[in-house]
Amino acid sequence: MFFGPKKVIVVAGRNKLVDGDIDAAVKRIKDWASPPNARRLNYNTPCSKTGFCSDCNSPDRICRITTVIDRKPRLTDVRVLVVNEDLGL
Ligand code: SF4
Repeated sequence: MFFGPKKVIVVAGRNKLVDGDIDAAVKRIKDWASPPNARRLNYNTPCSKTGFCSDCNSPDRICRITTVIDRKPRLTDVRVLVVNEDLGL
């Protein structure tokens, strides 16, 4: 996504936007996205059972990589399209 392709287009639903900073964004992932996705995929994680993140070390851990883009990569054109409807979790 960040090194290689000349153009990257990210399409995201409005429900992916958070009112806050990066901590709020990560919290959204841990609180709202990962638990139901882990449950949907039948992963054996604490959050798939409790609905809450416990910063687990499960072999099935679904959230493993956090990426932050401070600026557009020098050689890759990145566009973010926000769709005015809820898409996914
Ligand atoms: S760290 Fe573990 S418990 Fe927390 S959201 Fe990720 S998979 Fe679920």
